[in-house]
Amino acid sequence: MSPDTTTDLFALPETYRDLQDRARELAVSVRDVAARADEASETDPDVRARLAASGLTALAVPARWGGTFDAVDSLAMTVVREQLAAESAHLDSMFAMQGIGSYGLALGGSDAVRDEWLPKVASLEAIAALCLTEPHVGSDLKALTTRAEVDGDRIVLNGHKSFITNGGDADFYSVLAREDDGYSLFFVPADSPGLSTERPHQIIAPHVLADVIFADVAIPLDHRIGEPGQGFSLVLATLATFRVSVAGAAVGMAQSALALALEHANAREQFGGPLSKLGSVPEHLATCWTDIEAARSLTYRAAAASARDARGSLHLSSMAKVVATETCGRVVDRSVQIMGRFGIVRGSDIERLYRAARPARIYEGSTEVILDSLARQLVKNGL
Ligand SMILES: Cc1cc2nc3c(=O)[nH]c(=O)nc-3n(C[C@H](O)[C@H](O)[C@H](O)COP(=O)(O)OP(=O)(O)OC[C@H]3O[C@@H](n4cnc5c(N)ncnc54)[C@H](O)[C@@H]3O)c2cc1C
Repeated sequence: MSPDTTTDLFALPETYRDLQDRARELAVSVRDVAARADEASETDPDVRARLAASGLTALAVPARWGGTFDAVDSLAMTVVREQLAAESAHLDSMFAMQGIGSYGLALGGSDAVRDEWLPKVASLEAIAALCLTEPHVGSDLKALTTRAEVDGDRIVLNGHKSFITNGGDADFYSVLAREDDGYSLFFVPADSPGLSTERPHQIIAPHVLADVIFADVAIPLDHRIGEPGQGFSLVLATLATFRVSVAGAAVGMAQSALALALEHANAREQFGGPLSKLGSVPEHLATCWTDIEAARSLTYRAAAASARDARGSLHLSSMAKVVATETCGRVVDRSVQIMGRFGIVRGSDIERLYRAARPARIYEGSTEVILDSLARQLVKNGL
């Protein structure tokens, strides 16, 4: 029997191609407000309205609560983020956080909380956020100091979370805190007395970002998500499902940067010809193209594996996140170089991409921390 060469083993199934088309359509539709939204530290109302109207946030929630698929699908999140991030980091973040901020709740929340809130997440009526990081705690999450204590029929939270996406605009926060000797996850409505937000940091690629402070914030017992002590496992499940989607966003940004560099290199003439035929410029363009295709291949493969078994394929998602975000950093930097002084003009699309690409190598597992964990896994278990 000869191999079947008529089927493209590596083509995306139609469901995902349809999602790509819808995401592309949405991304193009926000072009007129993308530059403004990407400079904002607050949720842009136009971007939010258009994202809500697209229905794509239903991908972030299981079907039981109005979502698209029975379970949140990593490949769907990834191909959509690739398209959204190509046009607007703000749009991409708003989409992704609906899943990242609510996934623990969908897995382990009480029925009352899930039934009330998850349909609103699916429709973007409610904005979700996830609180892990603290002023003195980043990669080493087990050092966190936010505390939760049961006091009669309520749980009381005290602590300070830092660099929280959607902070200040979210309707609820999923909060990782110490409880007794373990760590638990809690659902905290944003209007809970004692909860406040402040925005001490403006970052180079503006982002809806705030510190969230809990001062004797009391929540009902059924607002603990999952069992006491299950917090890290819910956070790990969230990372396992969504980490690969960061890779999708990185591929989208890299592709946008290369498209701008290519257009510029074809149009601009120096030394009697277009830049795209000059010296090392064509080689740089080809290298970027090659790197993007390699990153996309690994990303789709990891996302498809994650859609089948997120925990079992976390190593692949982690590799894809490292490869795609590092590739994106290189491609955007080379694209700026190809565009010369026009690459660093404030407010230009390439300058916006240059800044937007940078944080992706830091959040949801920095490159070094992911490689450290992969190395330990490799040395312990072998290939
Ligand atoms: C745009 C943006 C949005 C964010 N949104 C959220 C959010 O919604 N919720 C939330 O909880 N947090 C959020 N964060 C915070 C993010 O999760 C942290 O920045 C991340 O965990 C890294 O922590 P850190 O910045 O404190 O760096 P650190 O942990 O201090 O690390 C600093 C450097 O040391 C390296 N390093 C650390 N440990 C090791 C190690 N063991 N081996 C080798 N190198 C190491 C790191 O790779 C990095 O290069 C966001 C951050 C950004 C930039």
